[in-house]
Amino acid sequence: MSDVKHYKCTSCGAPINFVPGTDTLVCEYCGASVPVSDLLKEEKNAKSFDWTAYAPEELTATPDKEYVCASCGATLQSFDSQFVTYCPYCGNNVSALEETKGGMSPNLIIPFNIKKEEVKPKIREYLKTKKLLPKSFLKVAMNADVKGVYVPFWLFDCEAEGEISLHGERSVSESFTNDKGETETREKTLHYRLEREGHFELNKLPVDASTHFDNKAMDALEPFNYSQLTDFSDVYFTGYLAEKFNSTPDDEMQRTKRKIQEGITDFFRETERKYSNIRIIEDNTDVKIDNIKYAMLPVYTLNFNYGDSKRQLFMNGQSGKIIGDLPVKKAKAFTWFLGTFTVVLAICSLVSFLI
Ligand SMILES: [Zn+2]
Ligand SMILES: [Zn+2]
Repeated sequence: MSDVKHYKCTSCGAPINFVPGTDTLVCEYCGASVPVSDLLKEEKNAKSFDWTAYAPEELTATPDKEYVCASCGATLQSFDSQFVTYCPYCGNNVSALEETKGGMSPNLIIPFNIKKEEVKPKIREYLKTKKLLPKSFLKVAMNADVKGVYVPFWLFDCEAEGEISLHGERSVSESFTNDKGETETREKTLHYRLEREGHFELNKLPVDASTHFDNKAMDALEPFNYSQLTDFSDVYFTGYLAEKFNSTPDDEMQRTKRKIQEGITDFFRETERKYSNIRIIEDNTDVKIDNIKYAMLPVYTLNFNYGDSKRQLFMNGQSGKIIGDLPVKKAKAFTWFLGTFTVVLAICSLVSFLI
């Protein structure tokens, strides 16, 4: 049995919850408020876990599975998939110290910015813009439970070194003489092979670290604004669920490399504006991960059944961006949003030739 920390009102003993978009926790019953900074002061200066140098065997070290609620004395069970964030018996916000300090703890967190009560009105507005959506879908979605979940992400700082061959196109007008001997112009598409050599540094590339969430959906929820990324504290967990990672940085390497490739392609799309339809045709890029951080990012979820199928709607808990698996326009529902991380440095040597 191990220690838990509880977050409750010092005046009335009711749970206190973090209020999105503010720096305070507020008591549900008496309205007393506590600044986040007061609670952070009480935290020990636990050293943030170094995920860049982790050894795979460390990941098997699991903390105690049972905790005692400091408020009601009930035994709390810890699960592999979720952090202990509240006591199901007395409803108090608790936090199991072993889970959130040292060892397996997250390094960074973006606190919720959107309040739970704002979620459904925003989703209603969003769904109303979908003209082909059956009306019954909106009704079912509005009856679903809104859950606020911190989703685990790996943030990779990486360097990519390599040679890339891109395909690009340019339209040119050319003059020609027609059958009647007159001069006319016509559009012609020229195809180019662009050879690029470069060194890229990418900052905090986000990669979903939980298999419980659809990777494409999580990618589509980006971008997150990193200016609100702060040192991890379980103070922000109050009032929310928090998922643990279940896929390691190594497990995610393939996907990471693909995202880097997309980021680089996107960089070229931005910088080589005279070419259109840019795509990678050959890529010999070596990727080196310099730094790994374990971050918790805020997501609202709505799960419900519609007809015979299970449906999900997600909202970025920071920006309010909504994505969903809708019964119509499905192809558009999960748009792959690129360019969500920063290419901080790109030194390229450029060679282009017509093909
Ligand atoms: Zn109170
Ligand atoms: Zn309790």
